[in-house]
Amino acid sequence: MGNNEIDKTQENLLGREGRYSRQVRFAPFGAEGQRGLAASTVLIVGVGALGTGIAETLARCGVGRIILADRDYVEWSNLQRQQLYTEADAEARTPKAAAAQERLRQINSGIVIEAHIMDARAEELEGLVAGVDVIMDGTDNFDTRLIINDLAQKHGIPWIYGACVGSYGITYTILPGETPCLHCLLGTVPLGGDTCDTAGILPQAVQLVTAHATAEAIKLLGGRRDQLRSRLLSFDIWHNEHQEIGVKAARKADCPSCGSRPVYPYLTAANTERSDVLCGRDTVQIRPACRQPLDLPETARRLARLGTGTVESNPFLVSYAEGPYRMVIFGDGRALVHGTSDIAAARSFYHRYFG
Ligand SMILES: [Zn+2]
Repeated sequence: MGNNEIDKTQENLLGREGRYSRQVRFAPFGAEGQRGLAASTVLIVGVGALGTGIAETLARCGVGRIILADRDYVEWSNLQRQQLYTEADAEARTPKAAAAQERLRQINSGIVIEAHIMDARAEELEGLVAGVDVIMDGTDNFDTRLIINDLAQKHGIPWIYGACVGSYGITYTILPGETPCLHCLLGTVPLGGDTCDTAGILPQAVQLVTAHATAEAIKLLGGRRDQLRSRLLSFDIWHNEHQEIGVKAARKADCPSCGSRPVYPYLTAANTERSDVLCGRDTVQIRPACRQPLDLPETARRLARLGTGTVESNPFLVSYAEGPYRMVIFGDGRALVHGTSDIAAARSFYHRYFG
């Protein structure tokens, strides 16, 4: 190679004006790691708090192609922690995927950013996974995580589970064929329950999960699997707690998602959260796939404490009205969202209160 060619290769690797030079100079990552990132595709499901943090970090690091999927639009209450969004986005109610895409392009014009404004269900997500090297969890609900988990197993794609609420965060790196999957870990990880809308959320909890999840992502994509954290990590940044649990033994040989005869239960309609528009009623019915029986009196108290809507209840159901919507929740976790026939809007409203 002539000097010019060397310069050219060097420039490609370090990016324009050496933008990636500081992480290439970090020896354990190095040129090899950077080459891996540049050649990689990452799918980020959900661009709320976690998703925006993950997207910004990976875009700045130089991941070659980033795919974003989200069904929501930006609201003022997002700005406290959803780091890609501005007041103008909240004012205009810009869809999050579109707002994130625009901001990320300003941050790094040298990579490809794709945006999908959509309700991420099994079928929609399966249409996005071709060529994806890692899937990042930026969702706000457990049902979507179980779909991601099955898709990851079916297509042999690593994925990084992450969740936070209040001051608590949790993350785990799932490698098909190597580690237990999320389905194996049901019972180990907290299921649904409180959400950011009910229990609040500290941005620092989000940032810490973002840091751990994206560090794992760049190890994976940069060819350093040997450095991955094999344990389930959880912490509470307010109560100063930090825990790592070895979960290798939790892998189940007969797991329906990752076992020897997988059936990927959450990719079939019967087991996924079902949302149906009820004919002529301006109502959407939501049936969650993975839900323990609801404690209705506690649910009523939890919603009443928010002070943002009107709660009524009887022994069979809880009714919660806020803004244009009224939601009726039954003891089996099923809900009717009145005031809309838009499934995505109804699911959004539901998942504010039920993770
Ligand atoms: Zn499993």
